Amino acid sequence: MIKLYDKNGHSNMMIDDLGSGSMVQANQHIIVHGKEGMILDPGGHKVYSALFPQIASLMPMKGLKYIFFSHQDPDIIAAANGWLMVTDAQAYLSGLWMRFITHFGVDELAVKRIKPIPDEGMTLSIGDAQIKLIPAHFLHSAGNFQVYDTVSKILYSGDLGASLGQTYSLVENFDGHIQYMEGFHKRYLPTRKALQMWVKTVRKLDIEMIAPQHGAIFGNRELSSRFIDWLEGLSCGLDLMGDEYPIP
Ligand code: FE
Repeated sequence: MIKLYDKNGHSNMMIDDLGSGSMVQANQHIIVHGKEGMILDPGGHKVYSALFPQIASLMPMKGLKYIFFSHQDPDIIAAANGWLMVTDAQAYLSGLWMRFITHFGVDELAVKRIKPIPDEGMTLSIGDAQIKLIPAHFLHSAGNFQVYDTVSKILYSGDLGASLGQTYSLVENFDGHIQYMEGFHKRYLPTRKALQMWVKTVRKLDIEMIAPQHGAIFGNRELSSRFIDWLEGLSCGLDLMGDEYPIP
């Protein structure tokens, strides 16, 4: 468990070592404020059983107020039912994916505790801490949100900033880190337009740290703005494809 922020009863913890085998490495992020908290993109079934006791060590399980799902991928929502059955938390997911999540076997009663996030985003409160759910549609999912914690000033960027194959948890050398991000960002993101919108949006936020859901995090202001600048200049997806698809 890595402590990203810890001040005046507010802490942000990251767990990055729960995956195994062929599973894509994923970070689980927990925000604790007082005796309450929130978990972001809690992951699939195998992660669930390992993560549960770790969260219980940070706060009373009854205090888990929110579960946030950035988008509909299985590494994010596969264990939704489990989380809802053993906690009193309310889950938040883009309204676009509400009718799809039941296919992961979410019980009818638990589904009522999953709230749709409107396209324009919203603000959640944990005590007096405001947590903003910021729209980042098409990066990479059509209904996609990121989380900005106004207390720690951490932007949780979901799949944006994902890196694969590096051995460290904190980026130190940005240029050396690009090779681990490039493949994912060029193929899983649809087009520059979405990136340009994101860059304009997040430049209005006061960001101390950017923490993706996969791979290493950008742990200070300088690295965070290097990452934003890199995405501003990146071509991806459709920008890199030709005029038609090949027929095999
Ligand atoms: Fe995804």
